[in-house]
Amino acid sequence: MLIQENISLKPYNTFGIDVFAKSFAPFANVNELQELLALHTSNLKPPTLILGGGSNILFTKNFDGLVLKNALKGIELVQEDADHVYVKAAAGEQWHSFVLHCIDKNYAGVENLSLIPGNVGASPMQNIGAYGVEIKDVFHELEAYHIHDKKVVTFSLNDCAFGYRESVFKKKYKDEFVILNVTYKLNKQPIFNTSYGAIEQELEQMQVKEVSIRNISQAVINIRSSKLPNPKEIGNAGSFFKNPKVENPKFQLLQDEFPSMPGYADKDGYTKLAAGWLIEQCGWKGFRKNDAGCHAKQALVLVNYGHATGKEIYDLSEDILQSVKAKFDVQLEREVNII
Ligand SMILES: Cc1cc2nc3c(=O)[nH]c(=O)nc-3n(C[C@H](O)[C@H](O)[C@H](O)COP(=O)(O)OP(=O)(O)OC[C@H]3O[C@@H](n4cnc5c(N)ncnc54)[C@H](O)[C@@H]3O)c2cc1C
Repeated sequence: MLIQENISLKPYNTFGIDVFAKSFAPFANVNELQELLALHTSNLKPPTLILGGGSNILFTKNFDGLVLKNALKGIELVQEDADHVYVKAAAGEQWHSFVLHCIDKNYAGVENLSLIPGNVGASPMQNIGAYGVEIKDVFHELEAYHIHDKKVVTFSLNDCAFGYRESVFKKKYKDEFVILNVTYKLNKQPIFNTSYGAIEQELEQMQVKEVSIRNISQAVINIRSSKLPNPKEIGNAGSFFKNPKVENPKFQLLQDEFPSMPGYADKDGYTKLAAGWLIEQCGWKGFRKNDAGCHAKQALVLVNYGHATGKEIYDLSEDILQSVKAKFDVQLEREVNII
């Protein structure tokens, strides 16, 4: 077990923010995790951060505590019935590698979630979602280690209280649990979900004759690669803000004033607005100040062109929030975890 001191976190976050962690250690099993936590908490109780792929984090300052880099590995088929397979993946597995594993084995359900960066362990944190599918649609259960009770707890689908980019781990139990593994319930017979976004169009362009989970995965990869900046080239954490919801009557008023405003009504009397559209209307798309910017193709994505600090990106997000509030009286919420 190696605890390193004063480590740059630049290689460990997709924004490429150059901050330092006071201490840094990987853990490859629960015993190592327990030992590291015991060592650490016997000290002055400085903060602990569980780090996956660092693709949903903005570091705004040096981290004055212990960063625990999740290196738990392994994927296994744990159960099977007539229609489903139950596949348990360790939290440190790369999410996209897990998706490719499922496609190779012909396990259906996660193909629409191809190419999302990060690790399996973070997938339930914000109920990751894309192209009409969310983790909650394929989630069976997870095991997590309670840092203070020193116990492993099993969470069912209901326990996780998944919502739009939300779960109990993001707010209610924030920083209390280390997710160790997640078991997904996948379909033996695929139920294709191609109606969302440009998947059908892309499949046509690919000249696909027979739809399969592999084709859908490839279509999603193609679309995402053409639309989203690659963090290896331009630092970013995907969508920086959530799409906000407003009550239907408020949406009516907004549409009276801004007739081209897109909105998607849900069943509960709310309309979901497109945060990217709101931001674009405020003139931010393509904006750049020093190395912090709002992406030229995707207003929802804030970027680091090289040497931006986390504070510069955060300040830009604050300016964006305020301008959207001033123009539309709509409050945006950050999706990215601010550290
Ligand atoms: C280009 C790009 C595109 C993206 N597209 C999407 C998308 O389509 N849909 C989507 O939902 N997200 C998207 N994201 C966001 C991100 O990829 C996901 O949120 C991903 O699940 C984060 O995983 P991670 O391992 O990198 O988490 P990290 O950034 O390392 O951590 C995120 C949070 O989870 C906590 N955490 C991580 N692992 C654990 C664990 N094992 N136990 C307890 N807490 C933990 C961390 O402490 C932190 O608070 C995108 C990001 C990028 C850069």
